[in-house]
Amino acid sequence: MARLLLVSNRLPVTVKVEKDSVSVGRSAGGLATGLSRPHERSGGPWIGWPGDVSRLTDAQRTKVEAQLAELNCVPLYLSASEVSRFYEGYSNRVLWPLCHYMLDRIPRQDRDWDAYRKANERFADLAAKHYQPGDTIWVHDYQLMLVPGLLRERLPHARIGYFHHIPFPSSEIFSTLPRRTELLKGLLGADLIGFHAVSYVRHFSGTLLRQLGLDTDIDRILFQGREVRVGAFPMGIDATSFETLAQEPAVLDEVKVLHERAHDERLLLGIDRLDYTKGIPRRLLAVQRVLERSPALRGRLRFIQVAVPSRTQVQAYAEYRETVDELVGRINGQYGTVHSTPVHYLYRSLNEKQLVSLYRGTDVMLVTPVRDGMNLVAKEFCAARPDEDGVLVLSEFAGAASEMRDALLINPYDVEGMADAIEEALEMPKAERQQRMRCLRAGVKARDVHWWVDSFLGRLQGLKSVEERPP
Ligand code: UDP
Repeated sequence: MARLLLVSNRLPVTVKVEKDSVSVGRSAGGLATGLSRPHERSGGPWIGWPGDVSRLTDAQRTKVEAQLAELNCVPLYLSASEVSRFYEGYSNRVLWPLCHYMLDRIPRQDRDWDAYRKANERFADLAAKHYQPGDTIWVHDYQLMLVPGLLRERLPHARIGYFHHIPFPSSEIFSTLPRRTELLKGLLGADLIGFHAVSYVRHFSGTLLRQLGLDTDIDRILFQGREVRVGAFPMGIDATSFETLAQEPAVLDEVKVLHERAHDERLLLGIDRLDYTKGIPRRLLAVQRVLERSPALRGRLRFIQVAVPSRTQVQAYAEYRETVDELVGRINGQYGTVHSTPVHYLYRSLNEKQLVSLYRGTDVMLVTPVRDGMNLVAKEFCAARPDEDGVLVLSEFAGAASEMRDALLINPYDVEGMADAIEEALEMPKAERQQRMRCLRAGVKARDVHWWVDSFLGRLQGLKSVEERPP
């Protein structure tokens, strides 16, 4: 296997500081889990930002660097200004809402493009410095869209892959971006560009035609004398580990407690980062409609919503939080009794065991983003149901919907329709629940995160290298 050089905005590690001691731990996210095996096996470096280490002393920083080196991680430190302009500014205030179709959330004047370009140059420089001939370079996500092109200038013969972890919007949307051409050309520096879904591939191809006059021949684009491939590679999860965890005695005990405390209440569950793409307010309104329509369910329905704090420095997120807080308060005020609270709202993150206990214990899982590149929570829920029970209500605007056809698919903008789906889920006969869950689980297990890594890298490494290609 060729050496793998990974480049992502964040390294797959967390730096923990406790009084005088400092330690580096592996993070548990989907990408980190999926790539850890090929990363370790190939022995190549992973380049990225280790998070804010500005408060570390020199001695602590030396320790962190030694521990990172042991994990084959190469840190790229972002300054405070880079964090606010490259990361929070251009990446999260411009590209994130753009790719999620939320043009009205983009600042009218973007002042952070230069910071984005310069940070991408720093990533490309560091990657080029660590590159060895024969390496496969794999660049990740929207923070680094210029990196493939910048690397191509520095390493004309390198094998470069890029994966876009968020949606790629229709050309009508992408074309509104003043820097659309630079970003498209940046991506075209790669040999293979991967997306989660076929629709994103189509949107990307349409945008190339509209903006650069480039035609895509099935999955090939000819750009500056090179062939660039595009493809859909839906990302999966570590299904085995979720399934195993869901059968552990500690988790089963937790599920028992959850059910005992719920008495005869039916449980609905939502698990999201608190992000305006996740559709939490409309989901709450749908739960409210169910309670309004069915007095018999009042006091017999509990909706547990876990909202993980996210991007708290960005104002749109603070405003979104207020909207959610207010709605939760309003519904609980209206439908709560001295014995029951319909919305159980947790603004914090949970560990894997707590998450899996909730997945395993709920009747209905509500995954209703207004737009989502993939949504791994939907897949984790199914993997955590070896009992083959539980109903998944899934937004048709999540990338996962293109694979998970046995979920109850809903339009998250249609609050009444969502309320209908919640009722249908609550009333669904056991045989149908099991039938649907069996099919969902088979898909989640067959296309897990290891399948995803192998299919992307297999395709990339199977392409002829630039030297091998005929002139
Ligand atoms: N997650 C977590 N702790 C929590 C809630 C969620 O670790 O308290 C994880 C969850 O297991 C999933 C990820 O966060 O792997 C969310 O991924 P998803 O694709 O659903 O959405 P994203 O946050 O990437 O937009």
